[in-house]
Amino acid sequence: MKPSSPLLLWLAGLALALAAMAHDRARTPVRIPDLPGYRTLKCDFHIHTVFSDGKVWPDIRAEEAWREGLDAIAITDHIEYQPHKADLPTAHNRSWEIAHSHGDVLQLVVIRGSEITRAMPPGHLNAIFLTDARALDVSDWRAAVAAAHRQGAFIFWNHPGWTGQQPDGVARWYPEHTELVTSNQLHGIEVVNGREYYPEAHAWCLEKNLTMLSNSDIHNPLNLDYDLHTGDHRPLTLVFARDGSPEAIKEALFARRTAVYSGTLLIGQEEFLKPIFERSVRVLTPHLRVRGTGRAYVQLHNESDLTYTLQPTGEDADLKFPRELRLPAGRTALLEVRGRAEDRQGERAVRMACTVTNLLVRPGQPLSAALEFKVTLLPK
Ligand SMILES: [Zn+2]
Ligand SMILES: [Zn+2]
Repeated sequence: MKPSSPLLLWLAGLALALAAMAHDRARTPVRIPDLPGYRTLKCDFHIHTVFSDGKVWPDIRAEEAWREGLDAIAITDHIEYQPHKADLPTAHNRSWEIAHSHGDVLQLVVIRGSEITRAMPPGHLNAIFLTDARALDVSDWRAAVAAAHRQGAFIFWNHPGWTGQQPDGVARWYPEHTELVTSNQLHGIEVVNGREYYPEAHAWCLEKNLTMLSNSDIHNPLNLDYDLHTGDHRPLTLVFARDGSPEAIKEALFARRTAVYSGTLLIGQEEFLKPIFERSVRVLTPHLRVRGTGRAYVQLHNESDLTYTLQPTGEDADLKFPRELRLPAGRTALLEVRGRAEDRQGERAVRMACTVTNLLVRPGQPLSAALEFKVTLLPK
C-alpha cells in the first residue's frame, strides 16, 4: 500500500480528530438534583495559587472549576505564608483579581477570600466574600478575624483534624472557637478537607448550628490530585441557593443550606438529603407481577452522578428483598424481589423501607428512605 492511499489519509484524519477531541475545552455538568425552591450549586471555597504556596496561576483555577462543572469557587491564598515571595511580590488581592476576570468570561462565580494561617488554636480560618484581603495582614489573629468580620465575611475553620496541627488526626474544640462562635465570627467548619472527613466537625456543625463545608484545599494542578477521567471528583460544598449569584450563595452559607459531597459520601441534614435522593431515583416499573415464590424485578433509574447504596430495613409479608442494592450513577439497576408464598393473590402497594448507607445525616447515621411500587401477587 502506498503512503498516499485513501486508507492512510483517512487514518491520519481520524488521529487528528481524536487529538482535537482530547483538547476540547468542555464542561462536564455535575448532576445532582435541585431542591424545591433552590438550585443546587457545586462549590469549592478553599483554593490556593502561586500567590501563596500553590503551584498554579490563578486563571487556571477558574478554568479547572468550569470544566469540572462547578458553579462557584473561592480563591483563598494564605495571608501569613508566602513561600514564593522572592519570585512574586506579596499581593493579597491579586490572585482573586486574575481568577475573577477569567471566571467572568466563563460565567463562573469567583469569590475573594484569604486563609488566616495561625497555630492551633484557632488553627487555619478561611474568610470569604472579603472586600480587601490586605486588611487581614496584621500580627494578632483576633485582629485579622475582626478585620474579615468587619467586611461582612463568611468565616470558617479549615481542616480541624489536620495532622500538621493535630498529630493524631482528631479535631479538638478549644475555648478560642467558643469565643469566635459567641462573637459571631465563626460561621462554619470544613467537615471534609481534601480526602479527609472529620466526624467531630460533623457533630459540632449539628450541635452548634454551624455551616458544613467540603473543600479541596488544592495546591497542585487539579488533575494531579483528582483523576477526573475515571469519575473521581474534588470534594464539593453543595449550596442550596435561590439563584447562582454571589449574594444568593452568601445568603445560603449564612443560613446553613449546604451539604458535603466527597467521594461517594453525601453528608448533610435530612431536609436536604432526602429530596436529593428522591429526585435522583425513578421507579421505571411501578407495577410488578410476582408469581408464587418466583422473581420479579423493579427497574430503578438513578439520573444523578451519585451512586447510592441501599440496605432494606424491616420485612415485607409477601416479598423478599436483597440485603443490599447499589444504584450506580446515571444507570438503571434491577431490584430483585421474590414471592414468599406459593398461593398469595391480589394487588397491593409495597413500601420498601431502606437506609441509604452513603448518605449521612449524622456521624455514622445513614438517611432513611423508601421505595414504593405496586405488586400483583399471582398463584404459582
Ligand atoms: Zn490550611
Ligand atoms: Zn489551605
